[in-house]
Amino acid sequence: MQGIIAEAHERGFLTANALAGVMEELELSGAPTLSPFGLSMVGPLLMQFGSDAQKKRFLPKILAGEEVWCQGYSEPNAGSDLASLKLRAEDDGKGNFVMNGQKTWTTYAQYADWIFCLARTDPSAKKQEGIGFILVDMKTPGVTAKPFLTTGGTPAFSETFFENAVVPKDNLVGPLRGGWTIAKALLGHERTLIAAVGQSARTLRRLKRLASQTLSNGKSLLEDPGLRAKLARMEVKLRSLEMANYRALASAQLGNAPGPEASILKIRGSEILQQCFELAMEIIGHDSLAWFNEPGVVPASEQWIASAFNYTRATTIYGGSNEIQKNVIAKLILGLPSR
Ligand SMILES: Cc1cc2nc3c(=O)[nH]c(=O)nc-3n(C[C@H](O)[C@H](O)[C@H](O)COP(=O)(O)OP(=O)(O)OC[C@H]3O[C@@H](n4cnc5c(N)ncnc54)[C@H](O)[C@@H]3O)c2cc1C
Repeated sequence: MQGIIAEAHERGFLTANALAGVMEELELSGAPTLSPFGLSMVGPLLMQFGSDAQKKRFLPKILAGEEVWCQGYSEPNAGSDLASLKLRAEDDGKGNFVMNGQKTWTTYAQYADWIFCLARTDPSAKKQEGIGFILVDMKTPGVTAKPFLTTGGTPAFSETFFENAVVPKDNLVGPLRGGWTIAKALLGHERTLIAAVGQSARTLRRLKRLASQTLSNGKSLLEDPGLRAKLARMEVKLRSLEMANYRALASAQLGNAPGPEASILKIRGSEILQQCFELAMEIIGHDSLAWFNEPGVVPASEQWIASAFNYTRATTIYGGSNEIQKNVIAKLILGLPSR
């Protein structure tokens, strides 16, 4: 791990493989993971599409973790149909954009220093062709993050408002109308990461421990042939995902940005993680309901389960829902006509 970090400092950034290695090790050890928005999303993007000035300004601070980023893609009426986005970035003729509109579901925007946004730079162009990719300082007057609570009680998201926010045109990444290509490249990085192989591997390890400590009719649940078969099936699915992930990383090492195959990793990875927690709920049985209603009933060592079960409902939605990933695979990998 230290070798990877040292190499990153020498090169000025983490390679995709090194980063995946760091993330997997952190997940496996149960350490807090790093916020992905800078390191795994906008960082690799700037390396590919950024100007020299942008690379110099942003990459070292992303690597050092000194600036926190958030992602401004989704809008109230532009989720799966992202290209319908309405946030406007108008040229004021003085070297700036004036930005007006709203993003939503912006994870941890209230803690972020910067947001990377998709904004409409040419309203007269066709949907995908009039979009720019713009970096905005969250302290810009007119930019406001309003956190909202989830049912789990955590303020993980914000609505982010832009009211006459003046942003230098130097913060545009790539061409004025070229944001869609950049947006898709970023989603490739995001979806590879959502595969979360390390997190699922660690969860499976914890499941086996939990099953060995849980008694049913005086016997450890780990001796139950039905449960053993389910655990084995999860293990096999996870190993095959791991191999597919390595294939994608090997391709990245050859200089290829993650393409539509990242959608396969996203679907399988998010489903496996959900299934791991479904199995965990099955193992703790009715204690899982007590977690919601009767504090103190479930031992502290098991309290993570119901909470993680609930949170992982989101994995098949964020980063583009799994239904949309299936459409991507049908169109771009299988070559099926759109209906
Ligand atoms: C935990 C979490 C964190 C998030 N963080 C961020 C963030 O930081 N930044 C950000 O920009 N966004 C974020 N999002 C938003 C996320 O990207 C969107 O929720 C997602 O793209 C789906 O959009 P939507 O919620 O508008 O659903 P909709 O687009 O309204 O979709 C609703 C349902 O219809 C289905 N559907 C829609 N269109 C089709 C179609 N053509 N074919 C088949 N099925 C379809 C979808 O699969 C879904 O089941 C986050 C979401 C979650 C849950």
